[in-house]
Amino acid sequence: RMLKRQIACRSDINRMNGAFLATFESLIPPEEERTKQKQLLALLDGIVSKEWPDARLYVYGSCANSFGFSKSDIDICLAIEDANIDKSEVLLKLADMLQSGNLQNVQALTRARVPIVKLMDPETGISCDICVNNVLAVVNTKLLRDYAQIDVRLRQLAFIVKHWAKSRGVNQTYQGTLSSYAYVLMCIHFLQQRRPAILPCLQGMEATYSVTVGNIECAYFDKVEKLYGFGSHNGESLARLVWAFFSYWAYYHDYANDVISVHSGSTVSKRAKDWTRRIGNDRHLICIEDPFEVSHDLGRVVDKFSIRVLREEFERAAEIIQYDPNPCVKLFEPY
Ligand code: ATP
Ligand code: MG
Repeated sequence: RMLKRQIACRSDINRMNGAFLATFESLIPPEEERTKQKQLLALLDGIVSKEWPDARLYVYGSCANSFGFSKSDIDICLAIEDANIDKSEVLLKLADMLQSGNLQNVQALTRARVPIVKLMDPETGISCDICVNNVLAVVNTKLLRDYAQIDVRLRQLAFIVKHWAKSRGVNQTYQGTLSSYAYVLMCIHFLQQRRPAILPCLQGMEATYSVTVGNIECAYFDKVEKLYGFGSHNGESLARLVWAFFSYWAYYHDYANDVISVHSGSTVSKRAKDWTRRIGNDRHLICIEDPFEVSHDLGRVVDKFSIRVLREEFERAAEIIQYDPNPCVKLFEPY
């Protein structure tokens, strides 16, 4: 394995910190959006409980994982205990009820990979997607939210990375690039790897939270209030972390051999997971293990064309942060 010399970070990196923090601040949703989301959720709760009195609505994704920007759509999961339900039937029935409840653009997509009903609430202007019994998404949303509580630099770094990915067009799974969920996991893994570490590995600690979803056991330490200050021995600034994140993915990550694993708090080998060859459509060109469904590679959507696009974008970002006098402008330039 080739040893690569570490590139030294520019000496004035901390001078960029204010610009990165300002970018982060500008993307945080204002409090009144939260109020509107609650209002819509209450409305939907009323509609759903008429037909399914025991069902519950859970918000997942960016509105609940603390990595959401202003004006995000809401992802909602309708949890129905009855195991014998037909998801398509539920979604069609739900779509009918929503339509009568005066919600707009109601559309049931029963044949999508994750079947959903889409809607728009004219009162708040919020759009949302409702799926049925996608409990794993609710649980991994909690894991992300719990990690974000431990050190503010995770949320700051992930906002910068997501904003970069959206600006540069590399946050589109249907085009072979990565989901926001994958980028947040890359940030968590990266902060677990810093020395001293900025984040612990919650799944490697004593489990204080545990649920079983299908045949997957989801267990981890969720008393994160006990971990405040965990990363305080590491004083790296946001700007330095952004620089190191992009350098890692541009120059140091071993694409041929390594899988990043939040579940184990380190990298694991592609060989051990048998992710060295293409199987069906899974090419494993960049390997990001799902923290609970560990047989699931979130990089599976990446193909031989989009891996080049991604790696060129990582290199572009690393170079801008290393050399550009004013990196925040060019880094987020629309593609
Ligand atoms: P955005 O701000 O871009 O909407 P998001 O946080 O909503 O970001 P998405 O990638 O849209 O992120 O995913 C929404 C949620 O769906 C995630 O938080 C996660 O719970 C779940 N999810 C998405 N992709 C996967 C996947 N491949 N496997 C498991 N869960 C996933
Ligand atoms: Mg989303």
